[in-house]
Amino acid sequence: MHSRYEVVIGLEVHVQLTTKTKIFCGCSKDFGQEPNSQTCPVCLGLPGALPVLNKQVVEYAIKTGLATNHQIAPHSIFARKNYFYPDLPKGYQISQFELPICEHGWLNIETEAGGKKRIGITRIHMEEDAGKLTHGGASGSLVDLNRACTPLLEVVSEPDMRSADEAIAYLKQLHQIVMYLGVCDGNLEEGSFRCDANVSIRPKGQKELGTRAELKNLNSFRFIKQAIEYEVERQADLLDEGGKVVQETRLFDADTGMSRSMRSKEEAHDYRYFPDPDLVPLVVDEAWIERVRAELPELPEVKRQRYVEQLGLPEYDAGVLAAERAVAEYFEALVALHGQPKICSNWVMGEVLRALKESDGTIADCPLSPELLAGLLGRIADNTISNKIAKTVFEEIWRSGKSADQVIEEQGLKQVTDTGAIEAILDEIIAANLDQFAELKGGKDKLTGFFVGQVMKLSKGKANPGMVNQLIQKKISE
Ligand code: ADP
Ligand code: MG
Ligand code: ZN
Repeated sequence: MHSRYEVVIGLEVHVQLTTKTKIFCGCSKDFGQEPNSQTCPVCLGLPGALPVLNKQVVEYAIKTGLATNHQIAPHSIFARKNYFYPDLPKGYQISQFELPICEHGWLNIETEAGGKKRIGITRIHMEEDAGKLTHGGASGSLVDLNRACTPLLEVVSEPDMRSADEAIAYLKQLHQIVMYLGVCDGNLEEGSFRCDANVSIRPKGQKELGTRAELKNLNSFRFIKQAIEYEVERQADLLDEGGKVVQETRLFDADTGMSRSMRSKEEAHDYRYFPDPDLVPLVVDEAWIERVRAELPELPEVKRQRYVEQLGLPEYDAGVLAAERAVAEYFEALVALHGQPKICSNWVMGEVLRALKESDGTIADCPLSPELLAGLLGRIADNTISNKIAKTVFEEIWRSGKSADQVIEEQGLKQVTDTGAIEAILDEIIAANLDQFAELKGGKDKLTGFFVGQVMKLSKGKANPGMVNQLIQKKISE
């Protein structure tokens, strides 16, 4: 549409960590508790209370940094970011500024053209979250400090993305990784994974970046895409009319799909960062980094590639199966038992994920263990049941937790491979449809399907379709 312009996007993502306790105190950080019940002098910001760094937070930062190809700083510093707001009782947020724990990272994304593109990540730093304000109640505005001091990683990308789709691809990749690592629950709606999008445009061919707007309040992938696309249009219209983009922070409104200015650069804070004198510099030695590196799981991108190259899966299957770690583990356990990766993939993507979606569950809730499913696939492979009957057996195992053999036995679902039995059924059907059979014999091949269907119906799906076909051919040539 605005082909004269190139879009430039840089993303800042706040990843809320799944540690048991907060970043600088021992308070629990469970979501949805009684307001202000998860607090202590440190996270309430009482004078004289001293922060103590949670080691788990550092470990998670290193993990995330390594998984996204960062260099881990042997020496990093916590700083005070000073501003006043009622959700921040200390009057400053403890963050990292000049010396963050991770720098110079990158991630590969898949482009629409099917290639790979590297997106640079400037830095990842650790910081504490602020509390939560609720406005407009009968009692005015309320402050809940349960979230204060909750550990966050801020992941700041380079301005390397050139479309809303690239931005979403990058975000989804990062989202998958933090969930694989188990450092974040990944819930966008609850704010566990929050994204601010910096968007600018420039005439094609121009080197310097255009003036950017920062978009906030984006709590789903769909809204992020919508907000970026709206912003690109808005800026292009401005430039087309001879106007100028002003640097500002804009708030996205999901109801209207539009954004409005929240504050301009002139109103931006001067945070007067300085090193926090209450916290010593953080030292991370090589041995610690190597220990964390050794514990990293196989990451989604590597897994996808392995599924394609070693297991011979189509790219699409590999992408679906590797997207979530628990699904990938389920699939791999199934392949270890049954072999036949593509058949396993069909069943996991088709039946297991479908049934989970219908029951609103995750793979952890799956009543069919890989063992039970492998038992079922074994009975298809040895021709005990047809693929079609297997779907029925699947539902029954899902419901009852019984083994495939048990269900097949109890419900008499064994495939009929006895030629005599199938032939008897076929004879019955031919006798009842003599006209059609004459037509079939006369060359109307289309009618084969009709006869196969009738035999399957009368045998309640238990006849072996290949054998039915053969028998029909035999009858025709008799
Ligand atoms: P701030 O200090 O205001 O947060 P940063 O320099 O840290 O600014 O940049 C924040 C984010 O904005 C980064 O992800 C960066 O890539 C992105 N960014 C910076 N300049 C631009 C621009 N002109 N267009 C798009 N994104 C940009
Ligand atoms: Mg920033
Ligand atoms: Zn506390």
